[in-house]
Amino acid sequence: MGPGPPARASSTELSFSESQGSRSAQQQVACAAELRKVHEAFAWFRSHARELEDLQLEVTSIAAPPWDEAARSAWLKERFSDLGLTDVHQDELGNVFAIRPGTDPNAAYIALSAHIDTVFPAGTPIEVRRDAGKLYGPGISDNSSGIVALLAIAGAMQAANLSNAAPLLFVGDVGEEGEGDLRGMRHIFQQPKWSATIASLVVLDGAGTDTIIAEGLGSRRYEVTVRGHGGHSWSDFGVANPILALARIIDRFASTPVPALPKTTYNIGLINGGTSVNSIPESATMKVDTRSASVEQLDRLEIALHEAVDAIISDGAGRKKQELLTAEVRMIGNRPAADLPVDSQLLKAIRAVDAQLNNASRIQRASTDANVPLSLGREAIAIGAGGSGGGAHTVSEWYDPTGRDLGLKRILLLLLALAGVVDE
Ligand SMILES: [Zn+2]
Repeated sequence: MGPGPPARASSTELSFSESQGSRSAQQQVACAAELRKVHEAFAWFRSHARELEDLQLEVTSIAAPPWDEAARSAWLKERFSDLGLTDVHQDELGNVFAIRPGTDPNAAYIALSAHIDTVFPAGTPIEVRRDAGKLYGPGISDNSSGIVALLAIAGAMQAANLSNAAPLLFVGDVGEEGEGDLRGMRHIFQQPKWSATIASLVVLDGAGTDTIIAEGLGSRRYEVTVRGHGGHSWSDFGVANPILALARIIDRFASTPVPALPKTTYNIGLINGGTSVNSIPESATMKVDTRSASVEQLDRLEIALHEAVDAIISDGAGRKKQELLTAEVRMIGNRPAADLPVDSQLLKAIRAVDAQLNNASRIQRASTDANVPLSLGREAIAIGAGGSGGGAHTVSEWYDPTGRDLGLKRILLLLLALAGVVDE
């Protein structure tokens, strides 16, 4: 489909305007839900249920470890092209883009994204299977279900020949998980080409229909390394031991009080160091994750971590054999905390869609790709791709497609509410 013509005088464009309140948002969504072509798109979701499951198993079988998503980027690019979307391309990081032009030549993009990376390191055995109606495989829900929803929305719109007023931008982005630290989405919003043209972003992340992530959870991550001289466990006994020092740092840091509200957490998720049982180690490292809705609490934990390190490392400064211990604290992740304003168009639109579909949902706080535009003062939310899932970030992850079409209807109606739909 090429760039659409401007809306004809005889067609009616249903979309929001700045002055419209939530009641009118409700009417707009109700009108869109009545359109014949929208019903055709809904029917497409049901008639393609099996194909969508096959796609989900297929994409899950393509490894996409952090920093190495190239094979999956190539796969997604092909799928976008097969669907007849325009300007299908990828950027230097591996983010994949496709456009569905709108009828309004002046409108900004409404973007729909799904992260394509997984948490599983290269070499993780990937076994995908279908069993008793459920799908299994590492990443099958987070975020293969999101990727499939992206393709389902585009596929149904193409099949039903729906006319969106604002152009739609479909994005499969890299580097969302863990130490990827949202690098894909950050890069996109660093490009004026996109940051100046995306009006709002809807992020699809994982299964479900019952949440609206409109509050970005801030997180900061650190790698702490303690280094020493090392030596033989017998003959060099007494030489400062980095593993012991690290253990004492952990103990001290973990005694930092955190408030229940705003919820603030810390985790030591990984430690390593040493070479053998009879060697005094030369180094020990840990990775620390801190999270809070409040920047002040993140600051406080950061200070506490540095204090713990300094206190333990300087503890033996006067003693000869302790002098060789050094420590380094390196920030390896920093996700901004920010909230979507309650009176935003996007929040009104998703509320109206949920009312239309009789879908009970609640606002939640989480760390997703939506953090990036939210921290720039832009409109963004993250929602689920429908169905249900569990065991996220484990190799026994599962996805149950029961009820997927509710999630897909929700996404489609939201996009049409934001972009406007032309009733021809
Ligand atoms: Zn995810």
